[in-house]
Amino acid sequence: MTTSPSLSPADLRTRVTGRVVEPDDDAYDALRTVVLGGTDPRPAVIVRPADDADVAAAVVFAREAGLPLAVRSGGHSGAGHGTVDGGLVVDLRDLKRLDVDADARTAWVEAGLTAGEVSAALAAHGLAIGFGDTGSVGVSGITLGGGVGYLSRAHGLTIDNVLAADVVLADGRVVRADAEQHPDLFWALRGGGGNLGVVTRFRFRLHPLDGVTGGMLVLPATPETVAGFMTALAASGDQLSAIMNVMPCPPVPFVPAEHHGGLVLLASVCWSGPADEADAALAPLRGLATPLADLVRPVPYPELFPPADPEYRPTAVARTLLLDHVDVPLAERVLARLQAADGMRVVQLRALGGAIARVPADATAYAHRSSRVMANVAAFVQDPAERPARAEWVAGTAALLDQGDPGAYVNFLGDEGPERVRAAYPGATWDRLAAVKAVYDPGNLFRRNQNVPPAPARG
Ligand SMILES: Cc1cc2nc3c(=O)[nH]c(=O)nc-3n(C[C@H](O)[C@H](O)[C@H](O)COP(=O)(O)OP(=O)(O)OC[C@H]3O[C@@H](n4cnc5c(N)ncnc54)[C@H](O)[C@@H]3O)c2cc1C
Repeated sequence: MTTSPSLSPADLRTRVTGRVVEPDDDAYDALRTVVLGGTDPRPAVIVRPADDADVAAAVVFAREAGLPLAVRSGGHSGAGHGTVDGGLVVDLRDLKRLDVDADARTAWVEAGLTAGEVSAALAAHGLAIGFGDTGSVGVSGITLGGGVGYLSRAHGLTIDNVLAADVVLADGRVVRADAEQHPDLFWALRGGGGNLGVVTRFRFRLHPLDGVTGGMLVLPATPETVAGFMTALAASGDQLSAIMNVMPCPPVPFVPAEHHGGLVLLASVCWSGPADEADAALAPLRGLATPLADLVRPVPYPELFPPADPEYRPTAVARTLLLDHVDVPLAERVLARLQAADGMRVVQLRALGGAIARVPADATAYAHRSSRVMANVAAFVQDPAERPARAEWVAGTAALLDQGDPGAYVNFLGDEGPERVRAAYPGATWDRLAAVKAVYDPGNLFRRNQNVPPAPARG
């Protein structure tokens, strides 16, 4: 590849209609910030494309100038991949068009929108796409990695509802990928992260949803409540889901003060079935113990997302893993580990299954269809000096939970090295992704991500 390091941002300005932001620009510091705390990369230039042609121009410019390229939407990458020191950031946050076809129950969603923005707009039509647990997460990043959230058991991962995507490739071409056009690319985009190109818009299938019954349920944390909660979820219908955190109780006003700091089961619950069936569906969870707080009530789906906090810049050590089940002995280990540590720490458990598991493992680049539980172990770091001890606790806790599933969910990986990226794409998924990558990005221009290098050319 020929590069021209003499190319400057001034040249880029002549090629794009959107904003080009350099370090001396007043907006630079605000625009370069990503969610991951504890790092402070300074890109050489940030491009805010106004359309597909701008994205293509920025991609080609980065390649010609030999600049490292980062693609940023919501900025929530746990590895900080949405920015790059000394490189070019394609920041898609000005692409916010949303075209809803309520009759067909489909929508074109531009890449710069967040899960919260899309959910709020769709709720006005009584429609929804399942994203994750946080509204400020970008639609692009969550979708490209998979998308695990409150509606996944009912309607599949976010990727299971993608019908098409428009993509700017490494050579600057803009293509549409769907079941008929570039089907290999369409397969790879659904789980393969940012490896294939820059998606400028997705077409989604929408689901009717006139609100949910959901909110926070806090129970005392005992081995029986923790295991019972996950067992009840696994046995329930697909319309019940929850994201359950076992952690020291934060000083929230809705839990009596004597429980603050003690271990609790703090679950965010969602029943997406008929409202008049909610009580019966929720009874197995509520019946595990007298709740310390029960804020579960009928709400619009977007209200399940906590209020956006632009100042949130977490510094944590985390490890994601996949489990088969949570029984009492495993719950005992979780509680013992949490008791034995200090600082803010959490073991998060999400029940999978349902519609996620009804999609064949080779239908998309998310291969973990038979894993029934997703666990995330995290310890927050206040002072860099604490990091080694926190990392040791996280690794030790994850090892104690391990049930032999070597997989990992790509969107919950940090900067953990190539072996962990392989874990996200086991066996044939890796080989197929690498082969598709070799077709669409043979030079690995898109490598600031959980990277799958292109398969070497044969012969
Ligand atoms: C607080 C928090 C809560 C979360 N909750 C959930 C959850 O409940 N469920 C879940 O599944 N995940 C969850 N995640 C993980 C989240 O899905 C990933 O971090 C995701 O990559 C973030 O997307 P983003 O657009 O916000 O991030 P960005 O940092 O902007 O992007 C992440 C990466 O995705 C790629 N990318 C982004 N946009 C594009 C594009 N348009 N085209 C090509 N590549 C692109 C790039 O490689 C980029 O580096 C959570 C993360 C955080 C920080």
